[in-house]
Amino acid sequence: MAKKASRVVDVRAAVDAASGPLQEAAGTLAGMEVTLRNMVRATVERKHVTIQYPEQRKPYSRRFRGVHVLTLRDDGRLKCTACYLCETVCPAQCITIEAMDVEDPTVEKAPSVYEIDLSRCIFCGFCVEACPEEALIMSREYDLSATSREPERLTYGISALTQRPEIAAYGAGFRPHMDYPLVESYLPSAVPGPDGRAKAKK
Ligand code: SF4
Ligand code: SF4
Repeated sequence: MAKKASRVVDVRAAVDAASGPLQEAAGTLAGMEVTLRNMVRATVERKHVTIQYPEQRKPYSRRFRGVHVLTLRDDGRLKCTACYLCETVCPAQCITIEAMDVEDPTVEKAPSVYEIDLSRCIFCGFCVEACPEEALIMSREYDLSATSREPERLTYGISALTQRPEIAAYGAGFRPHMDYPLVESYLPSAVPGPDGRAKAKK
């Protein structure tokens, strides 16, 4: 079906066509006419294009690049093997990882420190694309704010990247392998388990 062409409002033509004391305001009035027409139409037809934020939130797509999430194994441990690929590829250099040895025959390392300085992050998703384990994905969490530019306010460590309530509320966002099923099953829940680890969301 052919897309309906948008009507172009030529405010310059409106100014040229007007005369007298209203000429100065003709362009503004031509623009306001569009606003008022759409306002009346939205009210009559109940077709609102705005939402009552924050009571209402927009449902973004599963490819949305929101605040990161560190995913978990079935036993509640981080999937991350501290390979440093995400830190290396990050163009904003806002990921900090420190590795530690673990007593697990299946992996060599795990992060003792994993931090993302979200005040510098540009949400490009390169880190998520580089991760060979899908240990790092993005969420659809988009409203991130702080009242100061102090880096620690927006530097999320392992705890915030696995246990903040917004993870469950917003759900998974961008990850490179969208065809893999059950991504939600290894998203951490908002509530830590009895051992202090985040539980996998059922
Ligand atoms: S989304 Fe981009 S800028 Fe942000 S941490 Fe990942 S690679 Fe770095
Ligand atoms: S999140 Fe992925 S890419 Fe980054 S260190 Fe962990 S396993 Fe490697």
